[in-house]
Amino acid sequence: MTVPSELRRIADTVWELPRSYKPGMLVPARIFATEKLIRAMDSGVFDQVSNVACLPGIQKYAFCMPDGHWGYGFPIGGLAAMDPETGVISPGGIGFDINCGMRLVLTNLTYDEVQPRLRDLVDALFYRVPAGVGCHGFVRLSHDEFCAVAEQGSRWALKNGYAWPEDLELTEEGGCFAGADAAKISHRAIDRGFNQIGTLGSGNHYLEIQVARPENIYDQELARAFGITVPNQVVVMFHCGSRGFGHQVATDYLQLFLSVMEKKYGIHTNDRELACAPFRSREGQDYFAAMKCAVNMAFANRQVILHRIREVFADIFAKDPRELGMEMVYDVAHNTAKLENHVVDGMKRELLVHRKGATRAFGPGMEGIPDRYRESGQPVIIGGSMETGSYLLAGMRGGSETFFTTAHGSGRTMSRHQAKRLVKGQKLQRDMELRGIYVRTASWGGLAEEAGAAYKDIDDVAEATERSNLSRRVVRLVPIGNVKG
Ligand code: 5GP
Ligand code: MN
Ligand code: MN
Repeated sequence: MTVPSELRRIADTVWELPRSYKPGMLVPARIFATEKLIRAMDSGVFDQVSNVACLPGIQKYAFCMPDGHWGYGFPIGGLAAMDPETGVISPGGIGFDINCGMRLVLTNLTYDEVQPRLRDLVDALFYRVPAGVGCHGFVRLSHDEFCAVAEQGSRWALKNGYAWPEDLELTEEGGCFAGADAAKISHRAIDRGFNQIGTLGSGNHYLEIQVARPENIYDQELARAFGITVPNQVVVMFHCGSRGFGHQVATDYLQLFLSVMEKKYGIHTNDRELACAPFRSREGQDYFAAMKCAVNMAFANRQVILHRIREVFADIFAKDPRELGMEMVYDVAHNTAKLENHVVDGMKRELLVHRKGATRAFGPGMEGIPDRYRESGQPVIIGGSMETGSYLLAGMRGGSETFFTTAHGSGRTMSRHQAKRLVKGQKLQRDMELRGIYVRTASWGGLAEEAGAAYKDIDDVAEATERSNLSRRVVRLVPIGNVKG
């Protein structure tokens, strides 16, 4: 891969494309990466991040995180903060899987206690947390009840017995974005979503049993603050979003935006995939309210999945989930747009922050993180791959340049198609089992697409975020069991 000749190294891990790189850029573009990661960067990233730099109202820079790669409109790993008065909102800056996110749950069990029951555990999770394209959940809802989920998020789950009260405090925004309005979502979207609560979905979505080995703890104090206290402690990490519902919300509004963007608002973008509307326009506000419905549905979805995980552990280990210490560490979104207050050039301002495959990472002392993490900073949960490992990180004080945002995973290096040509799902499952990782999947093809080799090195990405002062490494988590969509 060749990097553009205009790319300038600004600091150890900061690379910039100046405004002269492409006509119409309102701000420069900045990519966070080590030299190794930038040399291997998907060339789509340079093109897409500089297109984002042309969007009306963008502030400071268009950013891409070290896990960046080509995506729809924005790169995955993309970050853009808009002035809410003069700027736009763009579904391509949020993603089709609105509020795709990661949740990390503790247990007080050790690897030695879990290993003998690992197969039973993963098999039971595979049955109790449906995975795969179009799978249905056990929660039966009318369309009206589904609209309540969309407006209330995790609060709906708490009322219906699927949550512990403290789960909500340990979820970004308390598990509910205020201002969701179900009047702004289509029947088609409801139809696609109303029976998908409690489901994982397909592909890159997963539910993983992981171990925090003592040699993988980078910061003892932060690990303790996040509940990692026992050597070889077992934790559960899962990754999913708003399923077909969020996808339909994004599709509906992309279509609407394409019909009004140029004709009504005179906005031109370099790429149709960057379809957008002024944030303060009727269309922009309607999408914002509909997007929040999908955000809330995803929080409720992850909450119901947690309920099922607790039931499965209780069955297998014949103990109450409380006795098993199954508290949440945190739940954090990586596909959203949010109004947040940030200091820009010494002034406090409200900004519309688009994070697309990028994770909020608030530093110590900031508003908006649970009291118990005020000193440590916000926990950040990033996936790596089912073969290699994942990370628990912490937000840092130095994150203000990226509006306190970091990576969300390792990021793909290979297309799904390429991976499927190189890897066979059944063989991969057998190989992984020999290495002590028991995986169940809804689709062999889907499993092949997710091979560790299809992703960047998660250690490189985590290191790049730390060297960039975006997030500090707390513990590297290794997989032992996985349910794959
Ligand atoms: P995305 O949100 O872009 O779909 O994926 C998030 C990240 O999750 C990917 O960049 C990848 O690093 C990670 N990931 C995908 N599948 C798995 C898995 O099965 N296990 C773990 N631990 N991480 C995964
Ligand atoms: Mn997703
Ligand atoms: Mn995701």
